[in-house]
Amino acid sequence: MADKNEELIKKELLMILKLNSKLNYQRKEEIKKMHAAIAERKMFTTPLGLKYMKRLEQIGKGEEILKKCILCAGDLDNHSLICTKCIKKFHALQFQEKDREPVRKSP
Ligand SMILES: [Zn+2]
Repeated sequence: MADKNEELIKKELLMILKLNSKLNYQRKEEIKKMHAAIAERKMFTTPLGLKYMKRLEQIGKGEEILKKCILCAGDLDNHSLICTKCIKKFHALQFQEKDREPVRKSP
């Protein structure tokens, strides 16, 4: 059970990293739409995923958000929600994951 939970956290973490590199947090409308889409699909269920969701919601509403990294809670040094240190750290993890489970290409 614990392993399964760990897998889930990892899965959500990778999804957050992917979204974080794609999204432009300056564009409120875009973030609002993304938040709605994620909420509808119930993509996130772990505390980390829900924390990320909450940030998206706040940005969409134009609320003031914490300038802290959602992963390490350190100061943010860029315009995303994850600090550069964490992005670099977890970038390696992303590639490991790809090697282990090759993405199946649809015909
Ligand atoms: Zn960080």
